[in-house]
Amino acid sequence: MNNFDYQNPTRILFGEGEIANIKNAIPQGAKVLVLYGGGSIKANGVYQQVVDALAGFEWLELSGISPNPKYDELMPAVELIKRENIDFLLAVGGGSVADGTKFIAAAAKFEGDDPWDILAKRAPVTDALPLGTILTLPATGSEANGNSVVTRGTDKLSFNSPLVYPAFSVLDPTTTYTLPARQVANGVVDAFVHTIEQYLTYPVNSPIQDRFAESLLLTLIEEGPKAMADVGKPAEEQNYDVRANVMWAATLALNTLIGKGVPQDWATHMIGHELTATLGLDHAQTLAIILPSLMNEQREGKREKLLQFGERVWNITEGDESTRIDATIAKTREFFETMQVKTRISDYGFGAESVDKIIDQLERHGMTKLGERGDIDIAKSRAIVEAAV
Ligand code: NAP
Ligand code: FE
Repeated sequence: MNNFDYQNPTRILFGEGEIANIKNAIPQGAKVLVLYGGGSIKANGVYQQVVDALAGFEWLELSGISPNPKYDELMPAVELIKRENIDFLLAVGGGSVADGTKFIAAAAKFEGDDPWDILAKRAPVTDALPLGTILTLPATGSEANGNSVVTRGTDKLSFNSPLVYPAFSVLDPTTTYTLPARQVANGVVDAFVHTIEQYLTYPVNSPIQDRFAESLLLTLIEEGPKAMADVGKPAEEQNYDVRANVMWAATLALNTLIGKGVPQDWATHMIGHELTATLGLDHAQTLAIILPSLMNEQREGKREKLLQFGERVWNITEGDESTRIDATIAKTREFFETMQVKTRISDYGFGAESVDKIIDQLERHGMTKLGERGDIDIAKSRAIVEAAV
């Protein structure tokens, strides 16, 4: 196991009805800015629960944070915060609202000229407003980590800071009952790939991290299709525990614990971001396209872990090593397809012409040494993307 430094300060309020308890988690007397997206929280009653819980606080709201949050739509919040002396941010929604709020929290305290430098130039975050989240879409783990992904034009970039971990996050599984199939599926696939990015590398004798990752993968494989089967049903016909298990799995997949002391890959995410930026695909759609292709391209470097993943998660024990690795990749692709997430660029109507655009973006963003060994150079990325068409 490698050395590590681990601290996760996010308090988790888990379960039905926990939104009411934000009144005890937000500092007394704080002036709060509530941030949300396109209105799903108004349609499903989450907004009203927030309004009720905030009785006694002075608060304002700002909506319109869109999927893959955009710099231009976040900056007005920074102005509002300064004008109104806001001292606590409450993000209500999916990963995009959480990520957007983290950027706003850092931008509001940024001392340089342009907060975009936090993403584009890796300008250090030295201060940030405190924030909490109420999660309505299990997927990103953003509710319990210090990561944020923001888009400006065709630049989809990320930053990470210990200062933007949420102070608390509410995980009420009943808020996920209204998710459409596409978002349930996206969430399960994103959480699955987060786990893989921290697991499917090379062995460093880390049985705890490995088995923890395998338990998350197995849970997502078991519970994901059950959650899909409940999409669109009224609340009284929903299986609470299925939603609860998916939600907790997604948080644990990227609250950074399983990645401690082990190598991490993240190439699927980095290449995936360029597919979202150039082709407009959902984050999880890009991951389902890139991962099977990357596993195949990296099959030598990942050989031992691919065999372990195949055996322990997919029960693949027959055949020579190469046959077992092929079967493991096929099973992974099949799982994404079972979740109704397509696994090829051409499934979305794009062809070989998209490859150059994606590769140009990777080069422009300096993504030339990806993967757990830094051995995914531009030529390898090209091979991965070409095979994914
Ligand atoms: P999202 O972009 O936050 O939300 C997708 C859609 O789901 C939105 O249209 C939203 O509608 C809707 N929605 C959310 N909750 C709902 C509910 N309970 N019922 C009905 N509709 C609901 O999706 P996401 O997958 O959570 O976030 C994706 C973003 O996170 C990407 O930008 C990705 O790159 C990033 N990401 C971040 C991390 C991290 O560690 N920080 C990791 C992976 C990915 P409304 O707008 O109307 O609410
Ligand atoms: Fe992700």
